[in-house]
Amino acid sequence: MKTVKLQVDGMSCASCARAVEKALGAVPGVEKASVNFVSKTALIDLSDAQTAGRSLIDAVKRAGYSARPPAKNRDAEEDRAARLALVKVTGTGALLFIGWLLGATNLVPTSVSTVMVIVALVLGAYPICLRAMKALFAKRLDADVLVAVAVIAASSVGEFVAAGEVAFIMLLGARLEDYTVRRARRSLGGVLSLVPANARVRRDGKEEVVPASELQVGDVVVVRAGERVPVDGMVRSGMASVNQAPVTGESMPVDKSEGDEVFVGTLAETGALIVEARRVGEDTTLARIAQLVEQAQQREAPIQRTLDRLAGWLVPAMLALSALVFVFTHDTARAITVLIVACPCALILATPTAIMAAIARAARAGVLIKGGQYLEATARLHTIVFDKTGTLTHGEPEVTHVSRFDEHSETELVAIAAVAEKMSAHPVARAILRKAAALGLSTADPSQFQAHHGRGVVAERNGQKLVVGQTGLMNDQSVPMSDALQAHVAEHHDEGHTTVMVAHDGKVCGTICVSDTIRARADEAIRDLRGLGVEKVVMLTGDNHRVAMQIAGKLGLDEVKADVLPEQKAEHIESLKRPGRAGVAMVGDGINDAPALAVADVGIAMGVSGTDVAHEAADIALMADDLSKIAFAVGLSRHTLWIIKQGLIFALVYNVTMITLASIGHLHMIGGAIAHQFSSVIVVLNAMRLLRYK
Ligand code: ADP
Ligand code: MG
Repeated sequence: MKTVKLQVDGMSCASCARAVEKALGAVPGVEKASVNFVSKTALIDLSDAQTAGRSLIDAVKRAGYSARPPAKNRDAEEDRAARLALVKVTGTGALLFIGWLLGATNLVPTSVSTVMVIVALVLGAYPICLRAMKALFAKRLDADVLVAVAVIAASSVGEFVAAGEVAFIMLLGARLEDYTVRRARRSLGGVLSLVPANARVRRDGKEEVVPASELQVGDVVVVRAGERVPVDGMVRSGMASVNQAPVTGESMPVDKSEGDEVFVGTLAETGALIVEARRVGEDTTLARIAQLVEQAQQREAPIQRTLDRLAGWLVPAMLALSALVFVFTHDTARAITVLIVACPCALILATPTAIMAAIARAARAGVLIKGGQYLEATARLHTIVFDKTGTLTHGEPEVTHVSRFDEHSETELVAIAAVAEKMSAHPVARAILRKAAALGLSTADPSQFQAHHGRGVVAERNGQKLVVGQTGLMNDQSVPMSDALQAHVAEHHDEGHTTVMVAHDGKVCGTICVSDTIRARADEAIRDLRGLGVEKVVMLTGDNHRVAMQIAGKLGLDEVKADVLPEQKAEHIESLKRPGRAGVAMVGDGINDAPALAVADVGIAMGVSGTDVAHEAADIALMADDLSKIAFAVGLSRHTLWIIKQGLIFALVYNVTMITLASIGHLHMIGGAIAHQFSSVIVVLNAMRLLRYK
């Protein structure tokens, strides 16, 4: 499957976006199209990669809009277009004002001032009427139709100045909205400006300054104190304290030295680094975050769909209401004013602008939320499930005890285990390999290797079978366990140490205990979540029950499910779901939690900076291993829903009041236009407060 992006121009509201979606959806080879009228982009999933971009663009054109591939320097282009539009609007406004002033003061013959007013009216009404015509041709009734009917009706009864002013205020309001939304959309794009323009590259022993866009993988760059890192890469030498806030959202600088990973856009506060480039340009973490966030802002929340459908009904209803007012009062001005204040613009804007701002705000804190629907689900969480290893604990356990159960020495035991574990990436395996290295052992490759997820490993070396893992695996592999051995394992488990058995040639030769530490602020994070109204905190682990209970006791968890295999984790998540209420989150480090992350209403992946940013199975990705960010995400989501509700309620009450005032003749046409635009601007500005959350 392929996803293409198009920039769509000429949309004035959400119902336009739905129309473009429909047109794109009808093109053969299109699986799904989602169009966001706030960001003015269409994301099109193609099942057939052969589908030509041309046919997509033509389809949009037929629906009455225009589309094109996203411009490279979209921001600059948009700014230019916005400036031009503003000049046109103010020009129209000035002409209208002067015409009215000259007319009112009788400084010139009436015919001259009337011509000026009419010219301004035509200039102002033209774009609105054009869009309304397009909508009508496509058999749609939208906000533009309401305004166009109002303006035409006003002109036809000779109210040229009023009609002109209404058109002018509508256009001016649209500019204001456009400006605010553009700023919000870019508040995140701004992080990309942290990528330095130039980089100091070391080539053939010489240092030269080259544009960052010319850097290539493998280049060696020098970063001095006070400079930003120009690539994602690995530190070759040097030492520095690096502020990684743009990528991970952590404000505390992190010390970096040889072998550490550094990210583009991060700032070396003190010290200097020699860095080998691993990823450059579009592939860097920061660039991918920006892409991901842009896509996320595109995916709308379910609440939005409902509102859009509602808006589709409102327009015809308001046309009917205005007609009724006219029939009963024979007052054209009143009927026109009803049309003007009836546009549900504020109602339509409330949700998408809030979601866009919230996603941008979260990204700045190192929390990537992959779509509006997850914000909505996160706000309603009742249960949070944590994986143990790598999530509640650091996932970097250390070997604490090695116990022998036959003639092999402790060092031999570690050596055997290390060979078996060499190909495994599991935290237990890494702990054993670190121990082997510390003992000065060099570990040979196994000739065969098989990982049993959630249980252990089975390997072969010199024709002998090696098994390392927990009791279940030993049973599966028919390795006998003595009573003494089982008692010994249980004892260590009670102390909170994960204990694995090491078998060589079908016989257990000993056990290795590893112990992991709980993350520093795990208890605080769980307390915060409870404070936010999360009812149940659960831990799921493949580890032994006794070990799990130790940790659960320290953190005060409500429920613990131990000895579960990765697939069973997913089943358990299903069982925690409550009918009709999305509200179960799974937090995992992603290594073997993918099925559970996918099944949960909200899958949250830990510490993904640098690795695979677009962590497939997760809905929310935390860039740093910081559990407190989960409470932040829940708090932000709740606040976002609250802001959306504020916007919707305000818009509804305001619109109804205005419509009532207009119907009973207490609101003039121009006052109506101003009042109407005022409500949209209030709603958008209120949503933008989310950018400064906490
Ligand atoms: P968690 O759910 O806590 O992340 P896992 O499902 O990855 O844990 O593993 C569960 C248990 O299986 C571990 O506690 C360990 O006893 C055993 N195990 C898994 N992988 C390995 C391995 N590579 N070597 C030894 N033991 C393993
Ligand atoms: Mg894990």
